[in-house]
Amino acid sequence: MSYEFNPLCKRVKCEGLTFEVVLNHARFQYVKSTLEKTRLVNNDRQALLGTKRAILPHMPPPGNEVCQLCDVEKSPLCITQLCFRGKDYILVANPRPWGYSNFMLVTANPQPQSMTAVELRAGFELINHLGPDFEAIFTGVKAGASVYHFHLQIHKGSAAIWENLEAQQIRKTTFFAKRGITASFVEGWPARSFLFEGSHPEQLAAVVSSFIATLTEGDNDFSYNIGFHRKDVFRLIVFPRSGEEQPVCMAGHPDSWGRFGFSELGGSVFLLTQEAYSTIGESGGMLYDAISEMSINSSEHAKLLSACQAL
Ligand SMILES: [Zn+2]
Repeated sequence: MSYEFNPLCKRVKCEGLTFEVVLNHARFQYVKSTLEKTRLVNNDRQALLGTKRAILPHMPPPGNEVCQLCDVEKSPLCITQLCFRGKDYILVANPRPWGYSNFMLVTANPQPQSMTAVELRAGFELINHLGPDFEAIFTGVKAGASVYHFHLQIHKGSAAIWENLEAQQIRKTTFFAKRGITASFVEGWPARSFLFEGSHPEQLAAVVSSFIATLTEGDNDFSYNIGFHRKDVFRLIVFPRSGEEQPVCMAGHPDSWGRFGFSELGGSVFLLTQEAYSTIGESGGMLYDAISEMSINSSEHAKLLSACQAL
């Protein structure tokens, strides 16, 4: 492991919402260098491959010759090998943790960093075994991913959006109820999201994977983040993304934000320098703006909402 995860963190309030700020300076160099390589290489790759950003094929990360998750079963980071419904996976410790008990579910064979119904079912089964204290997070290409081999992050904890929902500081409006699954949008949160709930993993995986398919259908090219847990039922949030990975709205601290993934869009924002951590005082206004900057706009949201009703 590169370091022990034992960060400074604080809670801030803005617009009646509760956010969490976490200082994880140990990831500073890693994030800075991978973001620079991504900026240099990814546009060329996309043009070369002619693919949409959210469905880039499996490949080594920008600037690398090899994929670090291929052959990971030989690494000391390998925790164990698992088989879900005849498909092989590996549990791998994250050498640069961003959460407590942070590890990854990785496909044994090379596979793109895109979410499918099969991988959702495997993730639901794993999170069901781990219990309600754990959260699973999927970070798509151009939505925070630095490795392009299928991996689902797991950690003990949960993004701030869940407690805001439970405290009814934000409200969900259900617009879809079929096959025991409900879909809702969430009002009052800086990032537009889709919330799916249900107790049946098979049906939930089918509905969510159909929704994810709409993100790259036709002219659509939305990268995305997914987070889920199981309390009384499975609850899963999808954040479609603008394609930007790092906000620019924090003047004077250009390298202080990490890549924004599910945790950040979900209100648990990781900062990489003490200066930026200190700059964010009692008011979370800066966080609200940064999260909002990473989200889709209202017309894109309306377009996805109508696609969702046809599922
Ligand atoms: Zn790989």
